[in-house]
Amino acid sequence: MKTLPDFDMVLFGGTGDLAMRKLLPALYQQVRAGTVPQGSRILAAARKPLSREAFLELAETTCRPFLGADYDADTWRAFAARISYFPMDVQAGASYGALGAALGLHPDRVRVFYYSTSPDFFATISDHLGAAGLITEASRVVVEKPLGHDLDSSREINDAVGRHFAERQIFRIDHYLGKEPVQNLLALRFGNVLFEPMWRREWVQDVQITVAEQLGVEGRGDFYEGTGALRDMLQNHLLQLLCIVAMEPPPSSDPDAVRDEKLKVLRSLKPFTPADVAARTVRGQYKAGAVAGAPVAGYVEEPGVAPGSRTETFVAVKAEIETWRWAGVPFFLRTGKRMPEKLAEIVINFRQVPHAIFGEATQGTRSNRLIIRMQPDESMRLHLVAKQPGDAMALHPVHLNLDFSESFRARRLEAYERLLMDAIRGRLTLFVRRDEQEAAWRWVEPILESWAASEDRPKAYTAGSWGPAASSALLSRDGLAWNEED
Ligand code: NAD
Repeated sequence: MKTLPDFDMVLFGGTGDLAMRKLLPALYQQVRAGTVPQGSRILAAARKPLSREAFLELAETTCRPFLGADYDADTWRAFAARISYFPMDVQAGASYGALGAALGLHPDRVRVFYYSTSPDFFATISDHLGAAGLITEASRVVVEKPLGHDLDSSREINDAVGRHFAERQIFRIDHYLGKEPVQNLLALRFGNVLFEPMWRREWVQDVQITVAEQLGVEGRGDFYEGTGALRDMLQNHLLQLLCIVAMEPPPSSDPDAVRDEKLKVLRSLKPFTPADVAARTVRGQYKAGAVAGAPVAGYVEEPGVAPGSRTETFVAVKAEIETWRWAGVPFFLRTGKRMPEKLAEIVINFRQVPHAIFGEATQGTRSNRLIIRMQPDESMRLHLVAKQPGDAMALHPVHLNLDFSESFRARRLEAYERLLMDAIRGRLTLFVRRDEQEAAWRWVEPILESWAASEDRPKAYTAGSWGPAASSALLSRDGLAWNEED
């Protein structure tokens, strides 16, 4: 693996859940892989008044379970030697002095500011970094979701960060773009000639994108009340996945070449009228039930949730793309909490053969399907129909593994690991550009507005089910059904 450039990474929110579960383990893995140059540093900053030793102890005990068998004490020591800790209040300008002194004057050294804190602080942190003169030409900023709760608030955050960082320095992270199967889908589409001719309305019947969680709101009801499934998941992750499936072949893999094509998809999404919202969207909210055999409370019983809350914990949408390639092909998107399984997948359903010559032998077989799975396992499978060996012409569904896990022995990278390295290297391809983000907000806003104006409540679904019955009806009206196969 190629070595990274020398870098300093400032991790605001260094004691938080994201830092401990994803960011520090990702950096550890890179130290373990030998790609992090000796002089590179990780400067963790957070509110807790801890000494460096106490922070390192906390980090080691908290990160270790996420490293599994990859943890070893020697590598951890080598990793920890690069880490310093800055207890500070990010809202107080005076507290940036120690950080500035540690960063020193290194105009050419890569400096990555990772904002792993509440987005309410993004403007303040940027202002203070700017005022303290800490933002150099070689600086980058990585910002976490949620970037706003609608178009206006996302613009405000982008303006605030944009006052100090140029667009080429801003890395808006959407970790679904860093997942191995999503990368593999790009390779499949644009590294082969086989699929491209079929990747269009003539051959694709429908596309389904599902991101299902078993978890509920995990004690964060107050945060979720102001968010809901549409803002939290669909506006960003599911729409980004839709872009990867639907975009035209870009002229190159340059960041703007790829992002221009994604933007065109977002701008081609058929807008929602209020009547469309009623017909093409379903919102749900879980009630008490059982997940993985254990009883769980309903959403409104969760701490921090208002009685009679109308926040959706499930959303399903039928999206349409108004282009020659995709006209008439429905893209069904759904995401929800308290579903029966943790599942993230993209399903491309191809059309039936135009004429069935095998008659009865075709019974029980389905048309071709490509399933790109991100959770619970990472895989890419093409479902075909083959002849069962033997005398009779009996057809049987089979699948071909297209991730070639047998062919490649290399360690698979976690999405955050890949994206952090990309940020350090300055590669923007897998990060969301401002205009993409705004186009996504523009498309979902009429849904939010119609829901807010309506007297209707989200439809109840039992925890542990696949959402309200209306979600199945969204597809059955087109004679279709959600994919249910392994
Ligand atoms: P968290 O609440 O666990 O951690 C917040 C961190 O910010 C802590 O280190 C805390 O010390 C620090 N902090 C808070 N106020 C501060 C202040 N005034 N001065 C200095 N430090 C302060 O949050 P998290 O779950 O780690 O999430 C961080 C960000 O990442 C949020 O924007 C969140 O929406 C986003 N995010 C988190 C996840 C996740 O899996 N946790 C996933 C996607 C996005």
